[in-house]
Amino acid sequence: MKFIPYLFIFFGVFSACSQKNEPVKVQLADTIWKQKLSPEAYYVLREKGTEKPYSGKFLFHKENGYYTCAGCGNRLFESNAKFDSHCGWPSFDEQISASSIRTQTDRSLGMVRTEITCANCGGHLGHLFDDGPTETGKRYCVNSLSLQFEPMNESHLDTLILGGGCFWCIESVFDEVKGVKEATSGYAGGEADQVSYEEVCSGKTKFIEVVSVVFDSTQISTLELLKIFFTIHDPTTLNCQGADVGYQYKSAIFYKNDSQKKLAVACIQKLTHDQVFDRPIVTELFPFDHLVPAEEYHQDYFEKNPNNAYCKAVIQPKRDKFEKSFKELKK
Ligand code: FE
Repeated sequence: MKFIPYLFIFFGVFSACSQKNEPVKVQLADTIWKQKLSPEAYYVLREKGTEKPYSGKFLFHKENGYYTCAGCGNRLFESNAKFDSHCGWPSFDEQISASSIRTQTDRSLGMVRTEITCANCGGHLGHLFDDGPTETGKRYCVNSLSLQFEPMNESHLDTLILGGGCFWCIESVFDEVKGVKEATSGYAGGEADQVSYEEVCSGKTKFIEVVSVVFDSTQISTLELLKIFFTIHDPTTLNCQGADVGYQYKSAIFYKNDSQKKLAVACIQKLTHDQVFDRPIVTELFPFDHLVPAEEYHQDYFEKNPNNAYCKAVIQPKRDKFEKSFKELKK
């Protein structure tokens, strides 16, 4: 169990989620808020007001991007969390990260509700309900006046291809990482345009089980993704990850450019120098050529099969390790 504490030293301590009783970072005098905000936005954000239902500009808004706090610009929700709740206000099923929004009990108007505020400036956003129709079960009911919209800049999207044993595990964790738009299981390293799971499992191909991680580089860096990668798998066992043995389970990074290669090399050198692991790191670096997407039943395997014995025994502990070590980087 040597490597986790050392990883914290190497990568720096990730602060825990901001506490509700801590003061917010952005604190302005009331006169400044009045200058900064329109009277309508001031009423909602600073006086806990509510806009009229079906009146807000973001109710039917469907662009790809981020909804930010109209008071301070803090990113609050991703557009893919928005759904039509028919309640008259923009609704979201999850916040962008655990530390973006604070909750508190609101006993006004003879009701007991959960108020949501911006964790950065304390601005009132709306309320949180447990009647959401999606898998999160949540409905963040938000005033349009509390929000601004930042369109997604596609040029900020980048991809990292990682092999760390069974792709079900790696995909399951990276699906939970803040800023990750898509994690896709597939095969890389071989020459053929197509290959099947059975062929890869034979160990006779050059293909390795990998996960293609598409991420927004304004939200998470390649280095942060590499930190997670080296925490959730064992990079010291050649062609093997736990009980999964074979060439296809090789620890590998398929770099797309020199920058990714240099970062990966530096990361491995630093881990080696700091003796984070008891044994040498055997992670191999390959130039990325092409990815063969894995069969559909491999995609989101953990999500589709939460009661599967492998998911419980092997994947869940990796998810737990990620959650414990990288609270600030969880969606
Ligand atoms: Fe704010």
